[in-house]
Amino acid sequence: MKIFCGGLGTETNTFSPLLTGIRDFDMAHTLADAPNVIYGSTMVVWHNMAQQRGWQCVFGSYGFAQPAGITVRHAYETLRDALLAQIQAALPLDMVLLTMHGAMVAEGYDDCETDIAQRVRALVGPQVKIGVELDLHCELDQQMLDVCDAIVLFKEYPHIDVDARAVELFNLIAAAAEGKSRPTMALYDCRMVGMYLTPVEPMRSYVDAMMALEGKDGVLSVSLAHSFPWADVPLTGTYTLAITENDPAKAAAVAQALGRKLFALRHEAIVTPPQLDEALAQALAYPFTGKPVVLADTADNAGGGAPSDSTFVLRKLLQMGVKNVALAMMWDPIVVQLAMAAGVGTRMSVRLGGKMGPASGDPLDLSVVVRGIIPNMTQLWPQLNGAMVNACGDSVCLTCDGIDIIVNSKRTQVLGIEVFTNFGLDLKQKRLLVVKSNQHFYAAYAPVAAHIIYATVEGTLNRDFVRIPYQRVNRHKYPWLEDPFG
Ligand SMILES: [Zn+2]
Repeated sequence: MKIFCGGLGTETNTFSPLLTGIRDFDMAHTLADAPNVIYGSTMVVWHNMAQQRGWQCVFGSYGFAQPAGITVRHAYETLRDALLAQIQAALPLDMVLLTMHGAMVAEGYDDCETDIAQRVRALVGPQVKIGVELDLHCELDQQMLDVCDAIVLFKEYPHIDVDARAVELFNLIAAAAEGKSRPTMALYDCRMVGMYLTPVEPMRSYVDAMMALEGKDGVLSVSLAHSFPWADVPLTGTYTLAITENDPAKAAAVAQALGRKLFALRHEAIVTPPQLDEALAQALAYPFTGKPVVLADTADNAGGGAPSDSTFVLRKLLQMGVKNVALAMMWDPIVVQLAMAAGVGTRMSVRLGGKMGPASGDPLDLSVVVRGIIPNMTQLWPQLNGAMVNACGDSVCLTCDGIDIIVNSKRTQVLGIEVFTNFGLDLKQKRLLVVKSNQHFYAAYAPVAAHIIYATVEGTLNRDFVRIPYQRVNRHKYPWLEDPFG
């Protein structure tokens, strides 16, 4: 057996003020580099599984860009064509395994993953088995299913099961390539748009029940495509996906049953967090017990395409005079550069954040002390097995009126507690931690937090979907309609 593995991904927030260009893609051209790129560890999983079977595995390349706005056409076509050329050069193949995101939009391409999968199918012919692993924040459609043999999505949000799903996909495609299995897929449109947090009810039980179906009664794999609600494309919406053993009708029935079950849970599963003032009041009402309250600024999540330089929460904290707080991470490479030049212990004036557009708010003019400097800082993103290393770039800790502000130079969301502890901050001494992240912080912070509070804040990622000025999303769905099936 000869396998090709590679991929290309980003999550496109069509409302983001940032474009995605070719330099925004972190690229791995060797297997050793792949784990340094987000979700690139899947390549190592596939390579190891191939080796265990004595099969040949060709690694092409893998690229992933931190989520932002639409990908410019030239960047997308250049990277896509490079991947296709690698596949062409590797022919003849038995299996192609791709890691993509599922919500990548480029100029002229509403659905980059389907475009790539269709071109791969055209290259390799009908006999080669094609498997695709996607982030659950993806948009799926029948055209994608038509050209793939199996599609597996992450099941957990936070995405702690990236490698586990890579194993699942490899096993499905390997069995198909060996002629031992004939996977059949079906999709069901849940007619809803939302954000679903899997560690908490009702989603925890939903995902557990979904996984309990697998491996029984001809059901090979089931996935929930949560959708990425900040992509203004016609496909945007929540879908269920089922893969069965050579039984399309059963796949359709399983997908429909799961979809209707989720739809029935919509009011409990899709929750809009309280506005910032209310969320802060809740956070500060808790008595200090030697563990911090963690407040998530969900609107300025770099992982959803936000600039991560908005000033709304920090401005409010400074106005309120709240002390003993730490906030991460403000993306401001200019301030990082100035603080690194000034050195630790220096008091200096900075114009911080608010630089990327109206959704970032106004910049803050502050007198700060440089408390720490860390070149090429990294953080750890907990996974079911180990952790992924994530680069934050050169980073500094600035202190202003009792607030420690972590400022970084490579835009990324908060995933691990290292963004604070690297600077020697003792989390047990902090009353409040503010993290710019929607949910990926959860795996690392739930064990150290007294409470976790999500806040709806002004900014790029509006959680009130009804108020997002969509032009192209099909809104014959919940929450625009209470019962779009009715
Ligand atoms: Zn995701």
